[in-house]
Amino acid sequence: MKFEPFGVRKPWGGDALTRHLGKPLPRNLMSVGMGWGESWELSDNDDGMSHVANGPLAGTSFRRLISEYGEEILGARHRAAFPDCFPLRVKLIDARDTLSVQVHPDEETARIELGERPKTEAWHVVYPGKNAQVWCGTKTGVTAEDLRRSFDTPDPLSCLHSFQPEVGQTLFIAARTVHTVSGVVLVEIQQNSNTTLRLYDFGGRNVDLDRGLEVVDYERGPVDPIVPPPADQPLAKLLECDQFVINRLRIDGAIEQDTSRTGMHILTVLSGSAGLAWRGAKYPMQTAETLLVPASAGEYRLEGVFEALQSYLPVV
Ligand SMILES: [Zn+2]
Repeated sequence: MKFEPFGVRKPWGGDALTRHLGKPLPRNLMSVGMGWGESWELSDNDDGMSHVANGPLAGTSFRRLISEYGEEILGARHRAAFPDCFPLRVKLIDARDTLSVQVHPDEETARIELGERPKTEAWHVVYPGKNAQVWCGTKTGVTAEDLRRSFDTPDPLSCLHSFQPEVGQTLFIAARTVHTVSGVVLVEIQQNSNTTLRLYDFGGRNVDLDRGLEVVDYERGPVDPIVPPPADQPLAKLLECDQFVINRLRIDGAIEQDTSRTGMHILTVLSGSAGLAWRGAKYPMQTAETLLVPASAGEYRLEGVFEALQSYLPVV
């Protein structure tokens, strides 16, 4: 199943999703221009809802789809574990300028205010620009007071650990890790949540510094990208956490896959073009497209010359 992407303009956004990934502008954004910061590829969220783009259910909102076919899509166990909404969200992000310095709560710290949800996320680097930089975690020994003071100096990022990202790198940003990024196109796999606490904003937007400083885990220290698996593996695990698993697929030919009817697969094509074959039908997928394979699908086959991410929920 494919979905209509939902576009979000951001003050730090650019035009790289179109320029480098060939992504057509989402219908909800209407006019072209700079500032297309986020493309929500798969989202069951009131702030931006995905709609089915193909097949007999085209036009149906993701929320409705989940409420009617939750068990077929998620599998019985995951549906029971997530009765309210689809647990994950997939975004493409074009951070032309620097995002706000931010942190997301975990289960415990999210409960401080009603209606907030925890958010652990992962970034996969698709296109690092010339001046690309990622800041993730604090430098060793940094305290809340150090961090607060740094935002009043000419170098508001001085307390954060930083590195130059490379294409194909994956970064695990557990809830409570302070982070920001500049000059990079990313795929973001995250828990379905909008809760972001801004500690500092380069565009002068409102911040929630006191709460943000409370949520940051200072013990965690610097966070570096995950050491990538060997390049020649057609299917390699990039990351496994309590919230999701991400595999990297590098295919030149074909690979057989199986949801085992126990959990859905989310496929996001990073480069090349792929075809998904299932019960005699073929579904083409282009670069920067995301496709949902329902748990009920069972066996399927991926063909072509392409690289993709395969994300799913951990076994419960
Ligand atoms: Zn974030």
